[in-house]
Amino acid sequence: MRLDAAIAAATERLRDASESPRLDAEILLGRTINMPRSYLFAHPEDELDELTLARFEDVLARREAGMPMAYIMGIREFWSREFAVSPATLVPRPETEILVNLALCEIPRDAAWEVLDLGTGSGAIAVSIACERPLCQVTAVDNSEEALAVARENARALARGNVTCELGNWAEPVQGRTFDVIVSNPPYVRRDDEHLAGLRYEPQAALVAGEDGLDAIRVLAAACGELLVDGGLLLVEHGAVQAAAVADLLGEHGWTDVACHSDLAGLPRVTAARRGGKQAPPEK
Ligand code: GLN
Repeated sequence: MRLDAAIAAATERLRDASESPRLDAEILLGRTINMPRSYLFAHPEDELDELTLARFEDVLARREAGMPMAYIMGIREFWSREFAVSPATLVPRPETEILVNLALCEIPRDAAWEVLDLGTGSGAIAVSIACERPLCQVTAVDNSEEALAVARENARALARGNVTCELGNWAEPVQGRTFDVIVSNPPYVRRDDEHLAGLRYEPQAALVAGEDGLDAIRVLAAACGELLVDGGLLLVEHGAVQAAAVADLLGEHGWTDVACHSDLAGLPRVTAARRGGKQAPPEK
């Protein structure tokens, strides 16, 4: 089969599974023949041999079944760098880039701060901050050894030795330490959320957080205060309908300057809060 015919047939097959069937078909074929996409347009008449066609069929079937391109390719772009991803990590999302942006607005260029990323997954947030602020030390925590292996790989490939990965539950591995900034994109999807069906290839533990989707953010609101220096900043991503609930939770734990920031789609997405010092004792 010729390359152009293979692309046309694959595009048809991906119509239901993808919002960009032709682009996906081209990227997958390029990967199968180990050539840049531009090669496909320059050599439409090249013939695919049986073996290559079978390999193309294999990736096409996975995409047709709904597997995200990022898992098939093993990479995803985030904050203009290419990150390794695996089914043990969420696929980094563009809306999470505002979390990185807010952290970078907080951290001066020449600061040698301690930064903590809780639930780092592929390390996209931690490594992006580490790359942009090379004098900072970034600690990236995850409770999945498989995810942490991906984060380590990304740190090694992209950062300059200023990312440390720690295995454990939330704040457990960093007890007793203090940080200037804490960032987190925790799981925040409700257990019965119907859009989970579309996310079935992604690690459920990285997505689902109890009945109301707030279990992980509850842990962060309670645990992060004592890990921050006075005036230190916490930045947490959450669902678009959770801003008020997150603000309440943070308020209950004595956080101050609680403010929600919207993503590029205008949806309230990341809440910032400062360590409020000790909570006033209850009035007698
Ligand atoms: N933004 C993701 C989604 O709803 C969820 C990510 C998360 O739970 N941290 O697709």
